[in-house]
Amino acid sequence: MICDNLKTIYRQIEEAAARTGRDPQSVRLVAVSKRQGPERILEALNCGQELFGENYLQEAREKIEQLGDRARFHFIGHLQSNKARHAAELFTMVETVDRLKIARALDRHSGSLGRSLDILLQVNVGREPQKAGVLPENLEELAREVATLPSLRLRGLMTMPPYTTDPEESRPFFRSLYQLARELRDKGLLSDKSQVELSMGMSRDFPVAIEEGATLIRVGTAIFGPRS
Ligand SMILES: *Cc1c(COP(=O)(O)O)cnc(C)c1O
Repeated sequence: MICDNLKTIYRQIEEAAARTGRDPQSVRLVAVSKRQGPERILEALNCGQELFGENYLQEAREKIEQLGDRARFHFIGHLQSNKARHAAELFTMVETVDRLKIARALDRHSGSLGRSLDILLQVNVGREPQKAGVLPENLEELAREVATLPSLRLRGLMTMPPYTTDPEESRPFFRSLYQLARELRDKGLLSDKSQVELSMGMSRDFPVAIEEGATLIRVGTAIFGPRS
């Protein structure tokens, strides 16, 4: 079933990319495996999916240790600075950096591990008080600070727009994230000008996100079904 779901999603990625003249290879699928057992990740791995997203550090750690280095993981949950060392060890990208304290902690631990870590800044484009993410007007200042940290590579932006059942309602938020990322790139604040990462779009709205420029889509339910 997981293989069929993945096939369907890859087909939808191709269709959405085709609608806007994008190369479907420029969109990477992050299979969100939070609250799914390691056997389900293994099933996805066996159908060729190698990139996964996890929200909870302890849970992710157990799975990552069991699965070894066949799979790569992005951290997409809320991070506390006292957990930064584990995050720097376990993940190839942290998508949810939204304050300097976390960025500094990740930088320090990545540095001591002798590596550099790809990160995204999470932006609260919908200005929802309960949601994580830096507000758009504070983004540039945070990016300027983060860009100076030697062991982090600021690759782009991530967002989670307000919940809605109509994917079209997410479009303006995806569009603003794209604009914000372009501004950062033009100001020289991203580590790779030619490959700006935009993580946006989930099960219900990823085709719209691809039309608006997503390079990373985070899809859970549509692959694995409901979470336990
Ligand atoms: C759970 C989660 C997802 C996946 O959501 P689905 O609706 O299951 O596709 C994507 N992004 C983040 C940040 C999440 O927490």
